[in-house]
Amino acid sequence: MKMLEKYHDEMLSCTGCAFCKKSYAAYEFPEKESDYPKGKIMLAYGLYTKELEENMEMVRALQKCTLCKRCEVDCPSLIKITDIIKAARFELSTLLPEHEILVDNFRRTNNILGEENFERDGSRIAFIMGCMVKKEMKDAVISLFDKLGVDVTIVGGCCGHPIEKIGRKVETDIGKKLREKNIEKVVLSCPNGMLALREFNPMHITQFVLSLNPEMKREEKRYIYHDSSFLGRYLGIYDEPRELIGRVANLVEFDERRERAKQCGGEIEFRRAFPQEAEELAMHLIKEAREKNATIVTASPHCYGHLKEYGEVVDIVHLLERSII
Ligand code: SF4
Repeated sequence: MKMLEKYHDEMLSCTGCAFCKKSYAAYEFPEKESDYPKGKIMLAYGLYTKELEENMEMVRALQKCTLCKRCEVDCPSLIKITDIIKAARFELSTLLPEHEILVDNFRRTNNILGEENFERDGSRIAFIMGCMVKKEMKDAVISLFDKLGVDVTIVGGCCGHPIEKIGRKVETDIGKKLREKNIEKVVLSCPNGMLALREFNPMHITQFVLSLNPEMKREEKRYIYHDSSFLGRYLGIYDEPRELIGRVANLVEFDERRERAKQCGGEIEFRRAFPQEAEELAMHLIKEAREKNATIVTASPHCYGHLKEYGEVVDIVHLLERSII
């Protein structure tokens, strides 16, 4: 239980106050105590002390969390709830069948979806395509960099972060490729990739575009920005997407936003294993956007790929690509 050992005191600091249940009030899917963060800490502690034995029910309960950190905003004891859940996942000997498929895909194709990776050589500025950036996004990325006048190198493949979130370590060759190509600047649209490639000081695509300050045209449309949990609560990037949306259209806000933003359920490993819960999370956002007569803008391919199944959504890469003159 090496991974959980360092959280021994942290797990015991949970007072059971249940403030972390607050962010679940809107959803119907919690059925048991172990669906809530507090219950997952108790499971992790039981696993650590060996008072509880691993079984499939426990595996499902510990994996039934997007690791979005929303509950941590409400925890008065400042417990690192998501770190504990992640550490517990590393202690589990069993994966969910849906997660086995993702790991197998990664091992076979370097892509958790088992799809072909796209690459091209260019300058020492690289865009990491990742595994979630599909063809429609790929074409928009290439056109966006063309409009910015940047001969971009594109590196494909999965960063491995979704696999790490389910409690397994895999090796990605992206870092090796970046070093071999002598890349100076790394740009991504996926916050998972930014977390996995921290050593390269990556920029989010919104930060990169803002740094070039391109001329953009406005459209009279209402866009509501959805804060990705990983771009926001993990990486602290809240302002740049809003700044860009505000330049090209009318920016509308969700009632709960920035560090209090709701999760959309779009993290690939979560929605593959818990599609109904992921749909419910998405529908809360889609409903609010409709009530506010606005189209959702995402800034993470995980969120975009998920939310677009349920309503009108545009990714910021598409929005920028068509707005830059
Ligand atoms: S809010 Fe924090 S202290 Fe309270 S039950 Fe949840 S994890 Fe424990």
